[in-house]
This record gives sequence, structure tokens and C-alpha cells, in this order.
Amino acid sequence: MNQPTQHELPSYLNPNDLGPWGIYLEQVERVAPYLGKLGKWVETLKRPKRILTVDVPVELDNGTIAHFEGYRVQHNMARGPGKGGVRYHQDVTLSEVMALSAWMSVKCAAVNVPFGGAKGGIRIDPRKYSQKELERVTRRYITEIGMIIGPDKDIPAPDVNTNAQIMAWMVDTYAMNTGQLATGVVTGKPLSLGGSLGRVEATGRGVFTVGVEAARDAGIDLNGARVVVQGCGNVGGIAAKLFHEAGAKVIAMQDHSGTIYNASGLDVPALLGSYEPQQGIVSTKAGDTLSAEEFWALECEILIPAALENQITVKNADSIRAKIVIEGANGPTTPEADDILSSKGIMVIPDVIANAGGVTVSYFEWAQNFSSYFWEEDLINDRLGRMMRDAYQSTATVAKQHNVTLRTAAFISACTRILEARELRGLYP
Ligand code: GLU
Repeated sequence: MNQPTQHELPSYLNPNDLGPWGIYLEQVERVAPYLGKLGKWVETLKRPKRILTVDVPVELDNGTIAHFEGYRVQHNMARGPGKGGVRYHQDVTLSEVMALSAWMSVKCAAVNVPFGGAKGGIRIDPRKYSQKELERVTRRYITEIGMIIGPDKDIPAPDVNTNAQIMAWMVDTYAMNTGQLATGVVTGKPLSLGGSLGRVEATGRGVFTVGVEAARDAGIDLNGARVVVQGCGNVGGIAAKLFHEAGAKVIAMQDHSGTIYNASGLDVPALLGSYEPQQGIVSTKAGDTLSAEEFWALECEILIPAALENQITVKNADSIRAKIVIEGANGPTTPEADDILSSKGIMVIPDVIANAGGVTVSYFEWAQNFSSYFWEEDLINDRLGRMMRDAYQSTATVAKQHNVTLRTAAFISACTRILEARELRGLYP
């Protein structure tokens, strides 16, 4: 009889190009030696529990039919229902959604919210479609993945290029298909449809909170500290605003259109007030422009990649002159670049801690939906602050204990929590 090869790659992966999933696998490899007896379950982390690929056909405004590829990947649900956003982007791939779903498992466990990890995506450039077309895409996608989502099963949320309006269409579609309104099926909803106060700002606020902690640990005075931000959306924009309010100088911001720079600090509120995402930041003329190389090489105290994955690589890691990197985006740093940054003594606060504010307030939103009792914004921000500080400090303690980076430390705590649950539940049947 043939013995199955335990560590064989799943057949849906291209072994020559693992993409972002390859980065995640490398991160898990680095943690394996620290898992002790739980190491026997580590293979669980190296393959998603469930992958759904769907065709999303929609009628465009001009009467033609377009087809988009959609995904929902549930990576691990040992600790609770799946949780994670849905991304609309022309470059979405299965490997990317798989990696993002795994980072959600690690993130939820790292900050100890009772969810597993999942992620969704549609391969579409939303800038090319009208609101009505995007509504039809969203409704058909939710219908196609409807059998695997639900308030106790898997709960989508916003991610790159998705927002509260899109979440409202998701809730409505799920309600029409099931015959009942269950607002807890999705988080990141508008306030008038069961959304939570503080959710829009939560990820940026979390980035700021861990930044304050890390700056204190590194002996950096935030007042006058130079901050560089990649991304002007919900994460980068809010984080920039909070650092600016705390007295830091945001000297550069970058988006799809390029970089703007002002050595004495950008007027962040004015800049964001006139910012039009479609046009891009360069058209605000709020500062000088810089090339991408110049942007990464800026001398600063804090660098915040808050856009897409794969931004800090072997190509630019060596040029980075920040003291602290706070990963507002998911997966912005490759493992090789991680090694370069760590050899240069740069502290990296990993995505699974740094941007966990979003899913933390998603957890609060979900809990509020179940009890139909809504909390005040102060209470939400207090609880978010406490959870982010606890997660950062316990990760820093584990990092010191094992003499590893904050990323490996966060993975040690998170993977231990996931695999403990896995072992307690045992194998079925
Ligand atoms: N998309 C966000 C993330 O990557 C939030 C996910 C959520 O709230 O479920 O963490």
C-alpha cells in the first residue's frame, strides 16, 4: 500500500512560485522549533481547511456579461468561526488569499480574539466599474460563498478597496437568501446597520497604539519624531493623522500616484481633507515629490507600510533608515528582508500585531450584534487600546525570552494557542 507523503505540497500550488503563501510557509518554518510537543500538529497550519473558488458573472451597465474570479479561504477554525476581510483588486490570486487567511488565523490568536482565520477576494479593478456594477458583483459573490459563511461560521469584513457600503450589500444579500436579517454575518458595517463606533478608525488607531509603546521601549520621543507612511487609506491615513496629533512629523506619504514629502512635516489633516483616492496624493501638491527609491531610503524614526504585501524586499531593505517599522499592511515584508532589517537593528512590529486593531473592533461589533446592545466609543477605544498594548507587551516578552524577532514571537504565541485548541479538539472521526 502506498504511504501518503505527509509534507507534500497541496496539488493546487505551483511549487516554483508559491507567491505570498510561500512567505507565510517560511514564517511558520521559523516557529516550528519553538512549539514543543504541539509541533506534531504544525502541518495543520501549512494547509487551509477549506478553499472555495467561485465564478462571479454580472451584467455590466452596457448590457454585456463579465465574469470575475472570487475566492473565500478558511485557513483554520480551531479557535472559533472564520474571520477576515474581502479584497477587491485586479491582482488578487489564490496564493494571496490563502496567505491572508492564514495571517488572519495568526492575528486573531496573537491578540486573543476568539476567531479562526479566513479571507476573501475578487479579481477585479473596482475603479473601472460603476457603483451599480459593484453592487451586482458583491451580491453575486456573497450568494456564491453563502453556503460557507454565517455569523457562527465565517464572518467577512472590509479589506483593500471594500467599505461599509459593500458590507451593507453583503448583509442584505445574505438576509434575502436566508430569509432573516443577521447583522453579525459581516463586520465593518455602516453605523445605521449594526456597525460599531470606532470600527473605521480601528486599524489605524491600533497601529498608532503599538507605535507609542514601541517608541517608548526604543527611547524615542514621539514629539518631533519623523514618520513615513505608505498608503493613505483607512489604515495609513488614520495612523498618519494620529501620529500628527501626537506631535510627530509625518514627513512623507505615498500612494499609487507617488510620494509627497516635506522635511518639516506635512499638514496631514489638510492633506487628507483634500485627498481624492482616484486622483492620488501627488495631485494634492501638498509637498515635493520623491521617487520610490528615495521614499524607502528616507531617514526617519517610524516607517509604516500600510498598503499591500511584498513592499519591503531584498531590493530595498538595505536602504531603509527607520528605527521602527510598523506593518499596517498585511505581509509587507518578505522573510529575507526581515533578516536584513533585524541585522540592521531595526525593530519590526509585525502585521499580525500591528494591524490587529481592525479585527479587534470587528470582534466588538460582532459581540454587540449578538446582544443588540451597543457600546459607547470611549469604551470601545479603551478596550481596543488595552488589547493592543497587552498583545504588544506579551509579544515583546516572548521575543526577549527566546531572543527572536517580534514576528517570530507573535507567531510562537499565536500558533501555540491555535494548536492547543487543535489538540484539545482532537481529530474527527
Ligand atoms: N481586513 C482586516 C484585516 O486584515 C480586518 C478583518 C476583519 O475585521 O475581519 O485584519
